[in-house]
Amino acid sequence: MSNRIETTCVQGGYHPGNGQPRQIPIIQSTTFKYDTSEDMGKLFDLEAEGYFYSRLQNPTCDTVAAKICELEGGAAAMLTSSGQAANFYAVFNIATCGDHVVSSSSIYGGTFNLFAVTMKKMGVEFTFVSPDCTEEELEAAFRPNTKAVFGETIANPALTVLDIEKFARAAHAHGVPLIVDNTFATPILCHPFQWGADIVTHSTTKYMDGHASAIGGAIVDSGNFDWMAHADKFPGLTTPDDSYHGITYAAKFGKAAYITKATAQLMRDFGSTPSPQSAFLLNLGLESLHVRMERHCENALAVAQFLQSHPKIAWVKYSGLPGDDYYEVAQKYLPKGSCGVVSFGVKGGRKAAETFMKSLKLGAIATHVADARTCCLHPASTTHRQMNDEELLAAGVSADLVRLSVGLESKEDLIADLSQALEQV
Ligand SMILES: *Cc1c(COP(=O)(O)O)cnc(C)c1O
Repeated sequence: MSNRIETTCVQGGYHPGNGQPRQIPIIQSTTFKYDTSEDMGKLFDLEAEGYFYSRLQNPTCDTVAAKICELEGGAAAMLTSSGQAANFYAVFNIATCGDHVVSSSSIYGGTFNLFAVTMKKMGVEFTFVSPDCTEEELEAAFRPNTKAVFGETIANPALTVLDIEKFARAAHAHGVPLIVDNTFATPILCHPFQWGADIVTHSTTKYMDGHASAIGGAIVDSGNFDWMAHADKFPGLTTPDDSYHGITYAAKFGKAAYITKATAQLMRDFGSTPSPQSAFLLNLGLESLHVRMERHCENALAVAQFLQSHPKIAWVKYSGLPGDDYYEVAQKYLPKGSCGVVSFGVKGGRKAAETFMKSLKLGAIATHVADARTCCLHPASTTHRQMNDEELLAAGVSADLVRLSVGLESKEDLIADLSQALEQV
């Protein structure tokens, strides 16, 4: 029996037996006991499944990863300690020194910095393309050493919507997978695998947790990409790993190869491990994700409509709003709603935006989004401050952009708060 997504949110990943805890147990243990060294040796060689040290895997974290895997319709998944770690592992697992990646330019500021600065130092080169590029422009970005394509379903903070099918087609024509960061949409609003994406990442810190309680990330593999069919491009998956006694991941682990490699190599060596406590909190968030996303979307649409008709607002971006540049794309990929984040410009630019933001009573200024509580941010002076004007423009972040993360409060109260704050401008 395959459950509907609402049921998976509540009960996915964990199936307690007779007399076992109804809620997932927090296995707060770094280590696990074995009767013989032989038993443990098999785990080290990836010959048997089991736990030996929580830097690599922990049962609580795996239970929650299994729920996220089910929610996305994937074949295998892992949690990481942050969304940054998830995106780093997702790319570095298949693109290393000397390789190249094509990425949408409209992505989270932290991810842009990871790709354009830090991973560049590690020898991985990125070409950034507009999410609205033509098929020809996308085609021209590929090189013989391209190993992946990357984009965000709904970009943070530009709120562009990725034409996933267009990016998947280009990736597959070049024999590489498409990685989609599905943080803002969540599997409630969009299933990237359904449109051809091969790997999905999440900052679970956002809607999945939903209560600003724990930083976390997740990587889900659809299991659809055939590494062996492109064996020359992905030697890390298709040739023996000497650090694991000559295991060839794609041959031994099939649809779990990519996640097994990321766990066995990257988690072992970099150790971006989530804590079992954080995984437990994340699971509490997941239990209500379907209920919350519906309300976030409803509130955000009402707020976007209010702002659109306000004389002190220069522009509004929300792909659920008829007339938005991404309305048609959103109708296709996000028919249930466009998440709770709305961006807009206050007439009068940066100064007006500052006055407006500090006059809000319900909406707090916070470096956060996708929270039950409404919050707002001025990206150009905070999250995106490392970018120059040209990069800001490419990322779709104008200097006057205010990102409003609409929470779960009463929409009437939120609109009243916005209204009184705009009067102060
Ligand atoms: C926040 C965010 C990240 C980074 O996640 P952290 O959990 O803060 O490390 C990555 N991608 C997107 C789209 C985000 O919004």
